[in-house]
Amino acid sequence: MQLIDSHCHFDFDAFAPDRDLVWRRCKEAGVTQLIIPGVSIEQWPDLAALVQRESAWHAAIGVHPWWVSRLDVAPAELEQTICTEAAGRHFVAVGECGLDAATDAPMDLQLAVFRAQVLAACRLNLPLIVHVHKAHNETLRLLKELQPPRGGVIHAFSGSEQMAGDYWSLGFYLGIGGTITYERAAKTRRAVAAAPLESLLLESDAPDMPLAGRQGERNSPAYMPEVAETLAQLRGQSVEEIARQTRKNTQQLFAL
Ligand SMILES: [Zn+2]
Repeated sequence: MQLIDSHCHFDFDAFAPDRDLVWRRCKEAGVTQLIIPGVSIEQWPDLAALVQRESAWHAAIGVHPWWVSRLDVAPAELEQTICTEAAGRHFVAVGECGLDAATDAPMDLQLAVFRAQVLAACRLNLPLIVHVHKAHNETLRLLKELQPPRGGVIHAFSGSEQMAGDYWSLGFYLGIGGTITYERAAKTRRAVAAAPLESLLLESDAPDMPLAGRQGERNSPAYMPEVAETLAQLRGQSVEEIARQTRKNTQQLFAL
């Protein structure tokens, strides 16, 4: 079984002490590639340098909603900043960007910063990695308006079957992670069981989003096979089929 982790913050300090060891564990577990999202302008150069070390690691460029309050570029300039930074470097996506109603930055500022990043994705012809928390209507409205040509992924998807369908019809895959390992996530488990397998990507969101039974621990991309197993059980499909198709979906979206 071979899996791609479509969302892993592998550059974060949580992995500084043992990054090489974790990567070795990943390969032993069949996790063969990682997509590492951008979160802030200050982080981009180090992230670009990190992925130089290993051809199976791929970087995205973006400003995460949790970092928006510390952004020192005007939203109107961010589209150009991203396009300038992306020239001559290889990024597989724009993101992690989006809207989070539970963070401190005002929603109108978040919307302006998100819009700039969707416009950058349109201009660079790259897919988007989207973070949405309690702001699905605003996100859907913006994506419908701007129609980014390469679509993207709604990372750490949690929501209803209807919402999953709304995103998929706009060309957005659903990133499936540790959430589905919790029995209490009944609505999301039903939605991912019913969605077309062609619309799903697997992700860890490590070091965050620990799996059920590992609460309080650092999450690791090496645990991805457990997410694949859970998805296989929920859908009544073999884990090999889940691995094969989600891998293909990830390769397609990010042109790996
Ligand atoms: Zn993330």
